[in-house]
Amino acid sequence: MDKMMADCPVCKIRGSLEVKTKTEEIPYFGEIMESTIKCVECGFKHSDIICLEVKEPVRYVLKINKNKLKVRVVKSQSATINIPELGLKVEPGPQSQGYVSNVEGVLERFEKAVKTALSWAEEEESKKNAEKILEDMEKVKNGNKTVTLIIEDPFGHSLIEDEKAMKEKLSEDDIRNLKTGFINIDQ
Ligand SMILES: [Zn+2]
Repeated sequence: MDKMMADCPVCKIRGSLEVKTKTEEIPYFGEIMESTIKCVECGFKHSDIICLEVKEPVRYVLKINKNKLKVRVVKSQSATINIPELGLKVEPGPQSQGYVSNVEGVLERFEKAVKTALSWAEEEESKKNAEKILEDMEKVKNGNKTVTLIIEDPFGHSLIEDEKAMKEKLSEDDIRNLKTGFINIDQ
């Protein structure tokens, strides 16, 4: 792990930004560089992964339950991640981050987002819906439910590292329908 200090782009304080990078070799996938930046002054934080190789657009599909919680997941900034059974989907945007985690970590990220949505929800129906999703996620973690985890990445920089994970190449149509996290301007 390499560490250096830089100037913070948010609060502009010199030398307050801690930049950590770590390079990791993942079998059959290649080398990735994980970077995390954090400002010790204002708390600004961002993480991303950079894949050092050019890849094909890809989709990974894996049935997940209690037995798959430790499966490694690499999610790049450009990836769309979704669990159709729970109606959960995260598309890339300017705020999206890349990370290396596992299935449990992915569920925790979703859980946090649903809890935030629940705390903001005003309508009874939205509250019930959010509570149902949280219950279902609990069931997945307890071994009482199996759902599908899908990661689609137009740049192929994401991965579900499990022998049961189905890997397929994205079609041209698939790619057109995906958001990339970059701002597109129509000419
Ligand atoms: Zn700062």
